[in-house]
Amino acid sequence: MVMQRGGRSIPSRSTGPSGPDKWYRPQQRSRHSHVTDAMSSSAKPSLGLANLAGCPDCGLLQRVPGHLVAGTTVACRRCDAVLHRHQLDPLGRPLALALAALCLYLAAVSLPLLSIDLRGRETSSTLLGLPGGFDRFDHWELTAVTATTVLLLPLLRIAMLAAVLAGLRLRRPPRRLYRLYRWQAKLRPWAMVEVFLLGVFVAYTRLTALADVDVGPALWALGGLMLVMVATDAAQDEHAVWAALEQRGATSGDTPLQGPNVIACDGCGLVSQAADGASCPRCAAQLRLRRPGSVARGWALIIAATILYLPANAYPVMIITTLGRETPHTILGGAEDLVGAGLWPLALLVFCASILVPVLKLLGLGVLLVAARRGASRRLRDLTRLHRLVNAVGRWSMIDVFMLATLVALVQAGLIASIAPGLGAPAFAAVVVLTMLAAEGFDARLIWDAAERRDTA
Ligand SMILES: [Zn+2]
Ligand SMILES: [Zn+2]
Repeated sequence: MVMQRGGRSIPSRSTGPSGPDKWYRPQQRSRHSHVTDAMSSSAKPSLGLANLAGCPDCGLLQRVPGHLVAGTTVACRRCDAVLHRHQLDPLGRPLALALAALCLYLAAVSLPLLSIDLRGRETSSTLLGLPGGFDRFDHWELTAVTATTVLLLPLLRIAMLAAVLAGLRLRRPPRRLYRLYRWQAKLRPWAMVEVFLLGVFVAYTRLTALADVDVGPALWALGGLMLVMVATDAAQDEHAVWAALEQRGATSGDTPLQGPNVIACDGCGLVSQAADGASCPRCAAQLRLRRPGSVARGWALIIAATILYLPANAYPVMIITTLGRETPHTILGGAEDLVGAGLWPLALLVFCASILVPVLKLLGLGVLLVAARRGASRRLRDLTRLHRLVNAVGRWSMIDVFMLATLVALVQAGLIASIAPGLGAPAFAAVVVLTMLAAEGFDARLIWDAAERRDTA
């Protein structure tokens, strides 16, 4: 028997995909019969407890089969979170896609993005120069947010993934590959190419009303980059890559840990018998039964975000000057403008992303934090789904910031027509970043713990 948190136990009997007990919920997604080397090697990990997985969403420790055919997804038996997704060629295909993404990234940053002709005055921008538009108005924080999420983090993510997968092909892979692989997973929500593209699309529809707009080749490259990055994520099999890193000795430690608790690593998923606070022998992340201070930090972040939500909506996010006349535009005003121009679908998109999503996120996070403290008696799966939803939709609110970045970089024709960021813009960007941090830092397992405590009280 293996002891679980709180003294409960789980059977240590090994089971296969068609075993009699349902400790996992395999979902056959394809009929491939190929089992890769990396996957078969994952059946005998030396650094952790074999064939065990801890659900990141509900905390349940459960058996997972050692051998699975490619295309199989293993889901948590309690909350349906995806535990493993076994892919065909887990080391080769993502590498090819990551290299293709790198080429597209280089094309996207070096070619012209958009150019406009505003009553004879031509302005053009590249992707590299676009965040700098905010600098003219001393909004360095907006430059930093845009440059980090659109330029720096997508590049780091792809380069780290390519380095890890290429490194695994060497005869002696560098030992520190584990760090790169852990970091590229952490950066995933913050690399926002797809959100940026939608922001540019909204900006494009607004620009066409003002000027003649030419779409540059960088925008097509960026579209390709987005598709390839989605395909790379879909082809990734983190379980297989970690198993390969472990097999090739590219891990932080060489020996399994010893300790009183069974803890699943937040960084790599390895299940170890260890003391709370020990360092994971595979990825060097700190092993915690639950993330300490997650609820208090969550409250602090959503209170700060709620306070900033007021200036974000009360102050204009952009100031448009046409023929010497300045018109301030709030977030709601921007959506109304799109309605006025007959662009209903875009107005709905901006309304959802900029007004509805932040409010629902703040309310949703509040509900989750109360459930984690007091314990909900039912609907635990729904609460876990709510957490996944809040995590997934949060980044899309950045559409407004990226639209503004595009407009500010391009529409600078002095008194004829120019667009400047307003005070509401940095407040709004801060709301998005703070709610994203709150959603990501929240430990959803606490909801299940609190419910258990409530049931046993
Ligand atoms: Zn679960
Ligand atoms: Zn780890």
